[in-house]
Amino acid sequence: MKFEEIVGHQALKQQLIDTIRHNRVSHSQLFYGPEGNGALALAIAYAQYLLCENPSERDSCGTCSSCKQMASFNYPDLHFVYPIAKQGKSTSKVFSTDFLSDWKQMVQKDLYFSIYGWLEALGVQNKQAQIGVDESAQMLRKLQLKSYSGKHKVMILWMPERMNASASNKLLKLLEEPPQKTLFIFVSEDPDSLLKTITSRCQKVFIPKFTFNETHAFLQREENLESGPAQVIARMADGNLAQAKRLAEKAETYSDYAKLFSHWVRSCFTADLKQIIGWAEECGKFDREKIKHFLSFCSQTFRDSLNIHYKTLEDFNQIFQEVNFELSKFAPFVHVGNTPRILQDLDVAAYDIGRNANPKIVLTDLSLNMARHLRIKP
Ligand SMILES: [Zn+2]
Repeated sequence: MKFEEIVGHQALKQQLIDTIRHNRVSHSQLFYGPEGNGALALAIAYAQYLLCENPSERDSCGTCSSCKQMASFNYPDLHFVYPIAKQGKSTSKVFSTDFLSDWKQMVQKDLYFSIYGWLEALGVQNKQAQIGVDESAQMLRKLQLKSYSGKHKVMILWMPERMNASASNKLLKLLEEPPQKTLFIFVSEDPDSLLKTITSRCQKVFIPKFTFNETHAFLQREENLESGPAQVIARMADGNLAQAKRLAEKAETYSDYAKLFSHWVRSCFTADLKQIIGWAEECGKFDREKIKHFLSFCSQTFRDSLNIHYKTLEDFNQIFQEVNFELSKFAPFVHVGNTPRILQDLDVAAYDIGRNANPKIVLTDLSLNMARHLRIKP
């Protein structure tokens, strides 16, 4: 994987390249930051640059035999360790390498996937996935072998926070006396839960979330969204590209949501009980995931409406214009005096829906509260 395949992070990419160009590659590194920040992709691009036979000042060449092997994940000195779960009732030991073809497919398909996406791909999303002690023992064996290429051996550990205590302790021994020319890259979302004795041995590289513009451009270019829906999703995803992709899969429903939202707040304004109940019946027919998704869309719309007071309207929700709902006219009714209560009620409703409460009752209650909140004067 070349750096250029990864969205944004321009300065950071150059910083990583410079450490290699100036021979300052520390043998254990910790890439850390929030979910969906592209850290795993950056770790792979970093390894590829390090091993490339003909790198430029800005990226690996992508055409040498080493880059080609890296691209197909067949480079013999590149190893991955990631959380896995036993499938079925098997009692035999399992290793990351047992799931290597799933892993390759996942990384080739999506550079920004989350642990949930990974477990979903394995079909074990309801299981506790971890990195066990046997895995550390196997790592030790692999790294003691001579490097095939004569260059670095690279071990990328994704989500090391899923290591149990005995696995961590065994790994620590490896870090204390690393085999020659070995590079460990830990890619973590929660470095505070790693052993301090491990993190203190690592050079730390913080990978921030993506900016709004990076997320917006990504959604237009790679998910083929129009600018309007891409803006809504980019705000909801808040720099997490794994989340942005999940939301984008449901993007076609957004104009329906905009319609439902406008219908809803109009009936709340007039406190028209018949309309409200009709609306609750209509939304109550969706499956629970969809209701929760719609409620999070509503929260975002309220937050955006509040922000209109402080921001220009240029990058605002075009999808509402398509359903003839003027958010700029609605916005004055959303202010600091009622927004916290509105958002709290939406959260509670989403929670109740997730806990199997009757959707029609939850949504009717929510609407009656909303009718009160919207009448509060700024
Ligand atoms: Zn190359």
